[in-house]
Amino acid sequence: MTQSLFDQRRAAVKPDSAAGGPVVVIGAGPYGLSVAAHLRAASVPVRIFGEVMGSWRHAMATGMFLKSTPAATDLSAPASRARLTDFCREAGEEELTELTPIPCETFVRYGMWFAQQYVGTIDAARVSVVERAGTGFTLRLEGGEEFGARAVVVATGLGALAHIPRELRQLAPDGPGPQAAVSHTSQHTDLSVFAGRHVAVVGGGQSALESAALLHEAGAHVQVLVRAPRVRWGARPQLERSWGQRLAVPASPLGTGWVLAAVCRTPGAVRHLPARARMLLFRRALGPSGGWWLRERVEGVVPVRTACRIQRADLAGGQVRLRLMGGSGGTGGLAVDHVLAATGYRMDVDALLFLSPSVRQAVGRVPGSKAPRLSGAFESSVPRLYFTGSLAAPTFGPMLRFVAGTEFAARRVTARVRQHELHC
Ligand SMILES: Cc1cc2nc3c(=O)[nH]c(=O)nc-3n(C[C@H](O)[C@H](O)[C@H](O)COP(=O)(O)OP(=O)(O)OC[C@H]3O[C@@H](n4cnc5c(N)ncnc54)[C@H](O)[C@@H]3O)c2cc1C
Repeated sequence: MTQSLFDQRRAAVKPDSAAGGPVVVIGAGPYGLSVAAHLRAASVPVRIFGEVMGSWRHAMATGMFLKSTPAATDLSAPASRARLTDFCREAGEEELTELTPIPCETFVRYGMWFAQQYVGTIDAARVSVVERAGTGFTLRLEGGEEFGARAVVVATGLGALAHIPRELRQLAPDGPGPQAAVSHTSQHTDLSVFAGRHVAVVGGGQSALESAALLHEAGAHVQVLVRAPRVRWGARPQLERSWGQRLAVPASPLGTGWVLAAVCRTPGAVRHLPARARMLLFRRALGPSGGWWLRERVEGVVPVRTACRIQRADLAGGQVRLRLMGGSGGTGGLAVDHVLAATGYRMDVDALLFLSPSVRQAVGRVPGSKAPRLSGAFESSVPRLYFTGSLAAPTFGPMLRFVAGTEFAARRVTARVRQHELHC
């Protein structure tokens, strides 16, 4: 078997040099930035890679808003003035209330401000390979640079984890664009390219419903296909709540109710639940729903077919012919120019191709899933390899799927990294 150039060079990297290298954070979204801010404040040598707020710039359509409220959308730094409201005040942005949907553009500007204030130098390069070397790692960047790292924090978000159902996958090439028959919502920043075309949006969550609204407003002929028997909508937040109401239905960054309040207050305890219970929480705690402020742009405006499954999809005469089972429109077919899959993401370490096959293989999984099994400090079964964000949600609960989990993750990872340093 021939060794790749990278393998040969890796063999030449002395294990000591990797162990003595910096901590590397891969990804400069909310989790990467927060972890990096904490590590830098703790004077840990750290290099951070990726485009600042890259997913929010390139994997979301123009015109989208955040579903979360301002209070649940703070990045985390040890300093006290790093919140979204601090940014808005300092930058002269419009003040946000719980009733103000946050434009994605505002959140991107907040992330860039946060990076400048609390992180410092960030290398926009993408990491293409992570391999083990002694007690540390060897990394390669897409530009070819290779170097050692004592620890690696994976904060790469959902990008590589986009999921398109089997029935549609064979019609989905990698590239986006109106000429492809099927694409995933994460492939689009400009939905106006579908103006005048017939589009079926598959899914019943925020991404599906907001994409449908944007497509309709851009002049596309849209139909939403939802598997569930009905579309669920979030409730408009109540600004004034009585003491009794707060006790009966407590608030949390993810919404109201005892289950959400409990999992948000004690993500560390969630980890001690049996794996089956955690996976159930992961899948069910926050089912697909649309933000309250989106409802009037969809209901009665865009046709929505509920209780409906796609049985098969074929290309014929330049169109996609869908065979549908059930649904308010009955069993039958639908012909469209394009199918937009708003069908979510799968937590699968094997989809992270920048981790070498041997690293991926060595990462233990949460039973019943392909997500990494993590310690209380977000460390995987590969020592000094950490996973944050959604990939940590099957371990710590649904808060890790959202920006609201950044504080918990950044503090735990940093404490563990410092502990390693003290013992080296
Ligand atoms: C449509 C949509 C709407 C959402 N709305 C909300 C919301 O309202 N509120 C909320 O809390 N959450 C929301 N989320 C969830 C959201 O993804 C997370 O809360 C948040 O972005 C997670 O941050 P992250 O740092 O883990 O990932 P990301 O924000 O995805 O950042 C990952 C970063 O890693 C970089 N990267 C990836 N691979 C590499 C590599 N190999 N080398 C270098 N860099 C790399 C990417 O470029 C990106 O910058 C939404 C998600 C989607 C898809």
